[in-house]
Order: sequence, then structure tokens, then C-alpha cells
Amino acid sequence: MSETLENLLNETRQFPPPAEFAAAANVTEGAYAEARQDRLAFWERQARRLSWAKDWDQVLDWTNPPFAKWFVGGQLNVAYNCLDRHIEAGRGDKVAIHWEGEPGDTRTITYADLHRSVCQAANALTDLGVTAGDRVAIYMPMIPEAAVAMLACARIGATHSVVFGGFSADALSGRVDDANAKVVITADGGFRRGKPSGLKAIVDEAAAKSSSIEKVIVVRRTGQDVDWDDSRDLWWHDVVETASAEHTAQPFDSEHPLFILYTSGTTAKPKGILHTTGGYLTQASYTHHAVFDLKPDSDVYWCTADIGWVTGHSYIVYGPLSNGATQVMYEGTPDTPHRGRFWELIQKYKITILYTAPTAIRTFMKWGDDIPAGFDLSSLRLLGSVGEPINPEAWMWYREHIGGDRCPIVDTWWQTETGAIMISPLPGVTASKPGSAMRPLPGIAADVVDDQAQSVPDGGGGYLVLREPWPSMLRTIWGDDERFKETYWSRFQDMYFAGDGAKKDADGDLWLLGRVDDVMLVSGHNISTTEVESALVSHPKVAEAAVVGATDPTTGQAIVAFTIPRGGVDTDGEAGEALIQELRNHVAKTLGPIAKPRQIMLVPELPKTRSGKIMRRLLRDVAENRSLGDVTTLQDSTVMDLISSGLQSGK
Ligand code: ATP
Ligand code: MG
Repeated sequence: MSETLENLLNETRQFPPPAEFAAAANVTEGAYAEARQDRLAFWERQARRLSWAKDWDQVLDWTNPPFAKWFVGGQLNVAYNCLDRHIEAGRGDKVAIHWEGEPGDTRTITYADLHRSVCQAANALTDLGVTAGDRVAIYMPMIPEAAVAMLACARIGATHSVVFGGFSADALSGRVDDANAKVVITADGGFRRGKPSGLKAIVDEAAAKSSSIEKVIVVRRTGQDVDWDDSRDLWWHDVVETASAEHTAQPFDSEHPLFILYTSGTTAKPKGILHTTGGYLTQASYTHHAVFDLKPDSDVYWCTADIGWVTGHSYIVYGPLSNGATQVMYEGTPDTPHRGRFWELIQKYKITILYTAPTAIRTFMKWGDDIPAGFDLSSLRLLGSVGEPINPEAWMWYREHIGGDRCPIVDTWWQTETGAIMISPLPGVTASKPGSAMRPLPGIAADVVDDQAQSVPDGGGGYLVLREPWPSMLRTIWGDDERFKETYWSRFQDMYFAGDGAKKDADGDLWLLGRVDDVMLVSGHNISTTEVESALVSHPKVAEAAVVGATDPTTGQAIVAFTIPRGGVDTDGEAGEALIQELRNHVAKTLGPIAKPRQIMLVPELPKTRSGKIMRRLLRDVAENRSLGDVTTLQDSTVMDLISSGLQSGK
């Protein structure tokens, strides 16, 4: 990307928080000034929200950048902070998790219940010889035992590495070996789309390839048949549920490794992102309190992410539980057994805070407004979004059809690497703009710079960077300090390079524009895929769009758009052709003639990663008539066939 990114989209709608919400908010405007005045003192105060066994001597040691140490010399136990201290405060009977299985079975788990299970699992792991510093892999469906396993590791100081339950045996064995994990915790399977999926069989396959696995602990979830290796495999109900429920949590150093999480690897060999203890929990806990305005006594919180992603780590396990939240955890997909499942859950549990992803929101838009309209969503008071830039029209749809025009929306930008939310509105303070993540949180120093590392003025675009270390930052890439420096700290001096493009609008508010690798260079102009996609989605006949730059003899790159029409839109023959022309003109009118797509293809689906993000790389292959690159991280491998066959039939 040369110099800067063009700034095309002009969004003027703005929504201040309702007065009542603002009056009762956990965090007010003053937090920004407080943090600006003394950033380290600000984070020190947030660390005090936790319970420490030993105080720190120094807030931040940044003498050997980019290797940070936070709360140096301090000691704490993460599981103690998520469980024991709530029980000691008399809240043991409070519900921690309302769990709902996909087939409709349910479990209600109090803090005391969760504590008991975590103590048992901690004792079982210890009996198997797992000690502080050992790595444990977790390959689970969305069942409470997944959270129990993570917390049990944290309790005994073992470093967990959760691998998403949809990944293949190769992906699993690669991650297990990279971390040298000696125990894998899994289940026979889980329920997805009405069917039991097999997890144990994949672990068997991975174990055959891996050199490090000694023991496999298996939760019985579906009851399906599994192969069994007596010397290696153990049932959870035999070893965990029979173990003692007495366990005293030992404190660990603030920089003790808490977990490794591999980024999804859409770009290259997965990176084992390492997070440690004190700083991570401080920021996960503070941001959950500040951004979601969590009121532990009255809120029912639901984050729809899978525990295999960082969102599940920070905003299902560590953030909410450290804050004593009551939350909903759901095993399955949004369309099983019907497309109103999410809304039914909100109605049933009277959920007040919902945190989900743009990909889900656009899918709900495609399915139609009448589905959420059939449920009582009046309990909701706050909505969140994470994972991709949210298109302004998707944001408006979310606000109107889910949030009843009353709930503030927090669009939260962060990454596996940042560990916790970095850029987001504060729901009781910020007058939000549809599609903007707005401002860095108090205590966070984000900026947008050009090629020369100069801060761009308001109205400009460029690279998103972080100028100062933050408590929940990654400490390194597991086993590869060089790659850590090279990937994040070499592009600009003394700044963390996030890999995302962004712009500042006239007010200085931030708009995320997708990955820098996805930016298009058209006739010398840098244009973001996100903005063109948002222009397409703003057309009433479009549900979803993905845009790529394809090599073009005259313009260098030309804009090619793959577009999913909304349900009921006629796309046959001439109607399809007319729609394509209408959409091309619509983009030109919205963003300017430079952004007019050379080509628009109407498609039934888009290729997505297993975390729901659009894989533009594969669409670039289609647009440039190449054979497809690596499709192993695709959620549904038949999607590319659907797209190709649609194209051949002239759509
Ligand atoms: P990999 O790094 O392996 O390719 P990934 O980047 O998709 O995978 P994550 O760490 O889960 O893995 O995602 C972080 C990225 O998601 C960010 O860098 C950004 O591109 C995007 N993202 C997350 N939240 C937002 C948001 N609110 N607005 C815009 N983009 C977002
Ligand atoms: Mg990434």
C-alpha cells in the first residue's frame, strides 16, 4: 500500500446513548482523561479489580521491547479470581452458566458447581502428572466441560491450547506438537446442525501422528461409539467426576504463561500466540466490565463465539467469570432446529447483552426481518459486534431489528494477539456511528499512520498501529521470538503493526477497513474492500458482498464483487443483468466512479473461514481464473463449487 488509503465512505448517522443508560453506566467520560493523565496508574487501578496473592513491584517493564512484563513480581491465580472469590463473597448460588445443548437439553451451573468441577479436574490433571508450565490441548464442543478444562489448567498453572473443534486431525496434531502438549481433553463428539459430530475419532488420528500425546481425557456428550486405547484414553466421568472436590489454588507469577492460541492461519503457518496471567486477566476483566457495562446482579450475558476462538477465551471464560456474570452458553448453530433459535434463546433466558459477529448479522438479514420479529427481544439492552468490519447497513439492521432502536451497539476491534478489546465505543459515553469502532479504549494508544510512520490527519487513511504496550498484549509467538518481532514490530519502529487498514474521519473517529493484504490498488488509488462491500450491502436487494482486486491490464487492479442477493430478489436472465448494472451504478454513486466494480457476480454463498470471515484469497483466485489455493480452513468446502457452477450458468 503506497502512502495512504482513500477515504470513500461518508456516513453521517450518529446515535448517542439513551440518557438512562448513560446515567447508570459503569464507565463514564472521565475514564479517558484519567488514563491520558497517567496510563500506568490507570491500568494499576484496573488490576486492583482482581484479587492478588502478592502485590507487584512495578506496573510495566518495557526495558527489552517488544517483550513486555506487566505487574512485575505480582502473583495471582486466575481460577481463584474467576470462582473462589465470588463464593467467598457469598455468591456461590448465583448462576454462572445457563447452558443449552443444540438438541434442547439444558444445564444450570452455579459458581459453586463450576468451582467443584474445576477443583475435581485440577486434581485429576495433577494425578496424571500435569504440573505448572506443562501444556494441555483442549479440543471440545461448546459444552461446560470446555470452560471447566480451561479453568482447571489455569488453576494448576498448566498452559492450555484450545483448538477449535471443527479443525482437522492435521491441524490438531500440528498444534499439539508445536506446543508439545502431553494431555488432550476432548469429547466423543458434539451436536452441530442436528447431527453428532465426531471429535474423539479425530483426536485418535491426530495422536497417531503426534509425538507428544500421553493421555486423552474424553467427555461423554453424544454417546456415539468411539475407539478406545486402554493405555492412553480415560473417561472424564471416571477420572474427573470421581476426584476430590477439595483443591487450594496456588498463586502464580503475573507473567506465568496462561494460554497459547493459534491464529486461524488464513495467511500462513499458524502462529501460537502466547498470553500470560496478570495483565491478560486485568484487561479481559476491565474491558468486559467497561464495554459491556456488565451489571453482575441483573444482566444475562451471551457471547455467541466458540471457545476455540480468542473471543470465547476472553468473553466467555475469563472476562465474564472474573466479573461474576451470569451467562448463556449455546452448543449449536443458529439455524437448528429453526432459524429463530438465537431469538428464542434471548426470549427464554431474558438475555440483556448480546455479543456476536457481522457474518451472523448479515446471515440473519438474509433470512428476513420476520424471523426475529416473531420473538420477544425486549430484555436486550446492549449489543456487541466483533470479527470483521461491520457494514453500516448491517449495523442499522442490528440496531433496528434486534436492538429495538434502543440498545447501544459496541463495535469492538481487537485480535487474538491483543488478547482483549482495544478499540470500541463506551456504551454509556460514545455517540456511535454505524460501522465505526470509534475510539481506542482508555489506556490504549492506537493510531493510523502512513508509509512513513507519520500519523495521518483526520480524514486520512493508512495502517492501524498501537503505540504503547497494553496489559493483555501477546508476549511472543510460542517458541519463535524472531517471528514475533518480524511479524508485528518490524514494519514500523517502536509500534505494533496490526495488519489492518483504517481511516480517521473528520472527527478523528476510527473506521476499520479490513486487512492491509486485501486493499486494492485501482488506477493508483488505494481502495478498501470493506468500503465497496458496505456500499453494496447498503442496496436493499443485497444481503452480503465480498470484493476483491483482480489483475487488470489497464487499471492495475480492477474491482470484482461477489454478491448474495436478499431472499425473493429475481436474478434470472435479464433481471439478473439489470440488477448487476443497478448495483454497479449504486456503488459509483455512493463512493464515486473510481470504486465502480468492473464486474459483479451474483452468487448463492461466500467462502468463509471456520470463524466466519470471508476468504477473499479464494475469490481472487476465481476472479483471476486461477485454480484455487489452500481450502483447508474453509468452513464448507462445497461453497466454491456452488460459486463456480453459478458462474458457469451465467449468473
Ligand atoms: P489470522 O491472523 O490467522 O489470519 P484472524 O486475523 O482472522 O486470523 P483473529 O485474531 O480472530 O484472527 O481476528 C482479528 C482480525 O479480525 C483483526 O485483525 C481484524 O482484521 C478483524 N476484526 C476483528 N474485529 C473487528 C472489528 N470490530 N472491526 C473490523 N475488523 C475486525
Ligand atoms: Mg490476524
